[in-house]
Amino acid sequence: MRPEFKYEKEVTGTANARKRKLGQYRKIVSNVYNNKNASIAEIVSYSKMSQPLVASLVDDLLGFGVLLDNGIGESIGGRRPNLYCINPEYQYVVGVDINLHTLTIALFDLNNQLICREEFKSYDLENSSAYTDSLVDKVNGMLVKMNVASTDVVAMGLSIPGLVDTENGISFTHLSFAKEGLKAYLSKAFGFSVIMDNDARMMALGEKAFGKAKDKKDVLCLNLSNGIGLGIILNSKLYSGKNGFAGEFGHILIDPDGDLCYCGKIGCLETLTSGAILVKNITEAIDKGQPSLLTEYKAEGKEIDLRAVVKAILEGDQFAIDQLNKMSEYLGKGLVTLIHLLNPEMIILGGRLAHVGKYIVDPVNMVLNKYAMDRISSETEVVCSDLLDDAALMGTLSNVMKDVLK
Ligand SMILES: [Zn+2]
Repeated sequence: MRPEFKYEKEVTGTANARKRKLGQYRKIVSNVYNNKNASIAEIVSYSKMSQPLVASLVDDLLGFGVLLDNGIGESIGGRRPNLYCINPEYQYVVGVDINLHTLTIALFDLNNQLICREEFKSYDLENSSAYTDSLVDKVNGMLVKMNVASTDVVAMGLSIPGLVDTENGISFTHLSFAKEGLKAYLSKAFGFSVIMDNDARMMALGEKAFGKAKDKKDVLCLNLSNGIGLGIILNSKLYSGKNGFAGEFGHILIDPDGDLCYCGKIGCLETLTSGAILVKNITEAIDKGQPSLLTEYKAEGKEIDLRAVVKAILEGDQFAIDQLNKMSEYLGKGLVTLIHLLNPEMIILGGRLAHVGKYIVDPVNMVLNKYAMDRISSETEVVCSDLLDDAALMGTLSNVMKDVLK
């Protein structure tokens, strides 16, 4: 099922005529969506269609309700032009961000505004239809609450960790129980189309459309949460590789004599540096009597997780900062390889660990200064995401709109 606007169903005619008309409408809607506002003259210059044709197509789109009259613009010589904008409430996009331990669902209007966001913590991802049934209930519940019918949803964008075959809609690592593929399974359950991709790639798309990668061409976006993900933007486009598996940065070999990784290999980067390893190392040391702000936390019977570690670091906990520095050494060495290979202009650190800001940017930069070739690395800026926990959600929106307006 391809995502489409409601009006597309109302367009009649032979298959060819319909296709041509829909293509023309899409050009206009896409121009208005990307620029927030457009006049007939601007659409003519963008679409290379004639003025009378554009005027008549815009009239149709006003009739469908997908465009709105948005007042009068500035004159550039002659009469001041009428401006048109997208009707933000014409339809909506559902965004779903699945993580190992949290689930976030959201509703966006066509002005890219987040109009509803619900986060479920301690919501563990399991490979079962019970998980997806509950996900479907939660999304439908949000639609009812927001008074949005399922026919008013253009599509749902889904972000999920692990290996994802975007083209065929299959998730290999998680929720792989669905025989027909996760995309087909969820589309059937919701009645609208679902577009899915891996979480690190969705974060990268979010950064490209709405975050710090907005005006950049070559950017690496890291998802530093319990594991390590990588979304690669090359020449302003998301790079996915042949099967859509590009970016498995967490599973590059770092230590041949190291620990077994959950992927089955030995000494992967993720066995040395990840949120999960940081939590494990800190917990083990505290059990052995290491003084830390987290000692008290544990004594109160609370489980030390990544959120608690991030909080301790931000409160200046020396031991937690020390552990983060050690971990950043491996992360930085991995990044040196990527910088030498790809010469990115920016590396955006995202995910739960990016909440610590300078506490991770500074040690990573120190490693880059030490191990990377200066001429290459001095052109690379390392920053923390400002979209943080919403990067992947914003990416799902961008992914849906890219498909609808394709
Ligand atoms: Zn591995």
